[in-house]
Amino acid sequence: MIQLIRGFKDILPNEIELWKHIEQTAMMLFESFGFRQIRIPVLEKAELFQRSIGEHTDIVEKEMYTFPTSKGELITLRPEATASVVRSYIQQRLYAKDPIQKLYTIGPMFRKERPQKGRYRQFYQINAEAFGVSSPYMDAQLIFMLTVFFQRLSITGLKVHLNSLGCPACRPAFKRALSEMLMERSDALCSECIRRRGTNPLRVLDCKVPGCQEVVKNAPAITDYLCEDCARHFDEVKASLGRMDIPYEVSPRLVRGLDYYTRTAFEIQTDELGAQNAVAGGGRYDNLVEALGGPSQPAIGFAIGLDRLVDLALTKTRVPELPPDIFIAAMGEAARQKAFEWSCELGREGVKTEVDFSSRSLKALMKRANRLGAGHVLIVGDQELDQGTAILRNMRTKAQAQIEISGILSGIKGQLRAASDRQPYEDGQTNTPKPKT
Ligand code: AMP
Repeated sequence: MIQLIRGFKDILPNEIELWKHIEQTAMMLFESFGFRQIRIPVLEKAELFQRSIGEHTDIVEKEMYTFPTSKGELITLRPEATASVVRSYIQQRLYAKDPIQKLYTIGPMFRKERPQKGRYRQFYQINAEAFGVSSPYMDAQLIFMLTVFFQRLSITGLKVHLNSLGCPACRPAFKRALSEMLMERSDALCSECIRRRGTNPLRVLDCKVPGCQEVVKNAPAITDYLCEDCARHFDEVKASLGRMDIPYEVSPRLVRGLDYYTRTAFEIQTDELGAQNAVAGGGRYDNLVEALGGPSQPAIGFAIGLDRLVDLALTKTRVPELPPDIFIAAMGEAARQKAFEWSCELGREGVKTEVDFSSRSLKALMKRANRLGAGHVLIVGDQELDQGTAILRNMRTKAQAQIEISGILSGIKGQLRAASDRQPYEDGQTNTPKPKT
């Protein structure tokens, strides 16, 4: 039998309700903050990621799925979404109409990382990017929106880690200080960090090797090196989060795995998922649009790791159940033909209908209706057809009613409406029915 590729996975129908619920929660919330959806391709030119994420990052150095086209051009399965959204903002001239564009996208990313729990080679992200706003209010609002998102999913115990990575004016001094300190402690660094120390010393702060983490504990803090503008921006982000009662922790060693960040960087972490503890991360990238050939426009964004979020949500988030409104149990060929017609009509009108076209016994059909959690079962056999009536059973109250076959569709809809427990806009978020208790 042909098996899945290592690091890839199927998301099965019984898991999908939770995925959909999370995605719909994000869409509704982000749209109320003025974000609009964008869909970008899964394949891009390799150069896009090399130039944006940075040559000396783990992603570009060893994690990208890159291969040549027949013409020899290198193309890459996207390892993240920001670079593609920026490419689209520039190429489609989205800035020309209004430089302020707030965009979100949901989809798979690909990284050749070592697979383990919470780390896959195809994983899913929800990304949001806000272009054209340099104000620190935007940074705080994005973090606020993220915390509301997690609250809506009843996910608690998350911590916001916040840092500022400075800008091209102040970061070089920090890099020098860090590099000098790392030179002195070369003996304790892993071989990779000895190399990184020269090419990209910030990456050493991210290294998970215990010896390197020990060294990094005494590293200078980037927040001590910020220029006046960056320090003011950082202070205003913190004050704005305080104004909205968002708890956060300043983590001066938080650098994130991508090179394009400037100023604000943040990560949302949980201690409930073991080693892979980051559920979302993001930051400002004020120079990236221009660096990729666009106008000089500031930007900030984040990515939520959907796979890890689903793992957390499994025990915390209540997903509204959507069982069939009606199950049609038909016995005999003439009744099955009617069941076929009625199920087509009911489905067309948005009544969630399940029907079994097999010739199984009533007992077996009722068992299946029960297993599916159907609200009602319409029981019809050839004898009922002859009498011009069918039986509609309310599976919750067990009440049974005779229903006339002439005009049966409106009869069914009337009964379903009468028994309906649909709650309009439960929690202000959904119009799905309340789960049965
Ligand atoms: P990044 O794009 O590296 O900033 O990651 C943003 C979020 O995506 C992380 O906080 C994780 O939740 C998630 N993520 C990143 N890499 C993986 C992976 N290999 N498998 C599953 N989730 C991931």
